[in-house]
Amino acid sequence: MSDQEFKRTLGYANAAFDLLKRSGIPPYPQFYELLYTYATGVNPSLNSRINAIFRSGTVPSSELAETLYNEFLKSDVNDRMSSVSERMHARIEAVHEAIDSAMTTANAYSGSLQSASGDLERNLDANDMKALATRLLAETRRMQDTNRQLESKLEASREDIAALQRDLDDVRRESMLDPLTKIANRKSFDEGLADAISEAEADGSPLSLILVDIDHFKKFNDTYGHQTGDQVLRLVAMMLKSNIKGKDLAARYGGEEFVAVLPSTDLDGAIIAAENIRKAIQAKELLKRSTNEKLGRITASFGVAAFSRKDNAMSLIERADQCLYAAKHAGRNRVVSENELIQIEEAPAKDVSAA
Ligand code: GH3
Ligand code: MG
Ligand code: MG
Repeated sequence: MSDQEFKRTLGYANAAFDLLKRSGIPPYPQFYELLYTYATGVNPSLNSRINAIFRSGTVPSSELAETLYNEFLKSDVNDRMSSVSERMHARIEAVHEAIDSAMTTANAYSGSLQSASGDLERNLDANDMKALATRLLAETRRMQDTNRQLESKLEASREDIAALQRDLDDVRRESMLDPLTKIANRKSFDEGLADAISEAEADGSPLSLILVDIDHFKKFNDTYGHQTGDQVLRLVAMMLKSNIKGKDLAARYGGEEFVAVLPSTDLDGAIIAAENIRKAIQAKELLKRSTNEKLGRITASFGVAAFSRKDNAMSLIERADQCLYAAKHAGRNRVVSENELIQIEEAPAKDVSAA
């Protein structure tokens, strides 16, 4: 984490604490998360709701905070995960019980067989033989019944467990996606980048990173509303995804920032990819679906960095971020790579020595 990012996040944290204190909402983790999110402004719908509450003069209560938390932040992925794990637990318990009961019956049966074999060693008359056979037959039927029950319970479990497996896969997949844009979320980006770095380190193959930030998106939101803004985020996510290939990973990095991890791609290749995405975004004329109103075009700025042996995930992201920052400063709607960053950094030094 850079100093700048540390200061920024600390600012959000302080703002969240202030709001908790001022509004008298108990500082439970979920309420802190709610107001931290508010302080960052990444969730405009949440912010407009909270602003409206503040404006109306309503005294915020724990109940209100709970409602907002459930509506805006609570992830149903966790709930579904617990439900799957509870059902899995119940299933395993039922199978255990069925196996225990089958074992008890099997032990009793084996006891009966042993005592029958003892009886057979003695001289039995016809009546005793008949009684013995009847007893064994009854025991065998009981054994068969228990086995059948066990079989059907195991069969039911097999189907249940297959369904649970599918649910678990769904939950796992969803927990890796950003709910708004349905592309990879920050968590899967972090994991994907770590994997890509390990691979690049292991076989020396190139690896590049593209950071994307939509230009003047705040203004777009202010002009056309957050819902239209959300549509644009979905569109940009799709354009990013459709302009990469194979092992590449496109993710929402946060707010209106996106990222692409490009394994087996050197800096030049990544610059070309970024240019393609930039042009695709710029070329799209935005239409509001409901009214067919023309919304003009949006553009985005790009920072591109290539992994080097000295890098880790953080230093690579930071370099791409510096490039992105330089792209914004150079006028937006452009791609800046780390090559240009070096030139930009070196330029003032030359000026000084020339002076
Ligand atoms: P710049 O060109 O410097 O990047 O300007 P900007 O306005 O894009 O940047 P800034 O960081 O000031 O604002 C980012 C805006 O992105 C703030 C917020 O309105 C918007 N935003 C972030 N997340 C979301 C979201 O999930 N939905 C919508 N609709 N807007 C979002
Ligand atoms: Mg931004
Ligand atoms: Mg922006």
